Amino acid sequence: METLAIINATSVNEFATRPLAGGPSALARAETLARSVAGGNILVLASSPLPDTGLPTVLKPSWSMHDVLSEAAAFASSKPESDTVLYLQGDAPFVDAALTDTLLELHRRYRAEYTFADGYPPGFAPELLAVKTLPNLVGLAAKHDVPVDRDGLFAVIQKDINSYDIETHLSPVDLRAYRFSPVCDSKRNALSAERLWNLGARSAADAVRLLPVHPELLRTVPAFMWVQVAEGCPQACSYCPYPMMVGDPRSLSGVMPTDRFERLMADAEALCDDLVVDVSLWGEPSLHPDFQKIADSVMARPRFTLIVETSGVGWPAGAAEAVAKKAGARVQWIVSLDDEDDAGYRSLRGERRDEAIAFADRMIGVSPGNVHVQAVRMRDNEPRLESFYRGWKKRGDKVIVQKYDSFAGCLPDRTVAELSPLDRLPCRHLARDIAVLIDGRVPNCKHCLVRGADSRLEYAGSAGNAFDDGLETTWNRMGAWYERHLASDYPEPCGRCDEYHTFNA
Ligand code: SF4
Repeated sequence: METLAIINATSVNEFATRPLAGGPSALARAETLARSVAGGNILVLASSPLPDTGLPTVLKPSWSMHDVLSEAAAFASSKPESDTVLYLQGDAPFVDAALTDTLLELHRRYRAEYTFADGYPPGFAPELLAVKTLPNLVGLAAKHDVPVDRDGLFAVIQKDINSYDIETHLSPVDLRAYRFSPVCDSKRNALSAERLWNLGARSAADAVRLLPVHPELLRTVPAFMWVQVAEGCPQACSYCPYPMMVGDPRSLSGVMPTDRFERLMADAEALCDDLVVDVSLWGEPSLHPDFQKIADSVMARPRFTLIVETSGVGWPAGAAEAVAKKAGARVQWIVSLDDEDDAGYRSLRGERRDEAIAFADRMIGVSPGNVHVQAVRMRDNEPRLESFYRGWKKRGDKVIVQKYDSFAGCLPDRTVAELSPLDRLPCRHLARDIAVLIDGRVPNCKHCLVRGADSRLEYAGSAGNAFDDGLETTWNRMGAWYERHLASDYPEPCGRCDEYHTFNA
């Protein structure tokens, strides 16, 4: 029986088609693997013409998983001797020939309909489909709007998972917790792939051997940027350290000038290429008088997305709605409500609960699917949290229950559940996040607060100033703290902090 290969290159960008580590591109490497298994029985799916591929290619400007599976089914029906489809991603440079053989053997021995490998980082193994299952999957995909992302095929199968015979090959070490992604879909991940290659990795077994002993691979360029765009806040929440840093934030009024923010975004684009920007480091974004311009600076970068964490209080009429209508899913709104009842809300956040709830309801209507109502889980609201969750779920949007942060013991311990892993990891935030205060200062991380001489809270050291020293310089300086974490030598206050395992975007 013949094996076919489908290379999904529908979302590839320049990082997949440029040389990797002085050798072929990720796309060329995926093609080589496909040829070694499927000979000439290869079909490429793409959204625009691809360089240097002589393979048959189906071009469509936009794709759904239904389109992908329909093309796979049509291709398979033109090859009556075929029994198996190898489904590859066009940006994955590390697809392992030996692991592919293992999966093929498993797939055919057990006459599986879908076979995949689990526990490896993305990009080391293809997914396998039985040709006879394709018409059924096309029908299933037609009933569900599944986007063509890396997990798109599994997402379709999940819609009716009990109907399929599925085989899984497990990695000897579960590497998923590293969230390491050596695929060439972004500058960050292409750097990860290149560094892994330069360490000598050529196979999935190499990744299993190398990744646990090289956690420096996890730090490349920032993935998440906190920015403080406003000093003031209409509330002084009882579990927030900000009032202990600056006094009553209700009396503050400074904002980041929009031209400075624009320059910061330009620097961030040059450094990171893609980025999640959260404009709610401290202070309330609703108090920025030109918030539309702040949002526009983020939206002007097509690979940036914006997160607005807000109390839902203080927004000028129509301002947030205008941003949401213009940007759609590229802006995610997090409305902090924290408690189900009025008394609980007042003791945690203060007044104006009705305004906050009305804001959340309004935004759910304006930008459905992009609004998240949030509660920080702590002893104070624990008895009412389930009903908070169920109530907002019924209103049709997303609910975030966030871990309580005592900021390395600066605030009282109000934790409900201990979530820390048994073995301490180098801090995720040092590997992925950068925080920029209103005056450009870059603390080593958002969470690293200590008590100063006048008993106010302050940051434990600074990596410099993003406006004066440049973003890349400050990011590189932050690496010194990460180096210490790699050596299990934790700077003050990291030894007391339990945020190291949490993850933003
Ligand atoms: S351990 Fe805590 S304080 Fe230290 S860098 Fe990570 S998040 Fe910040």
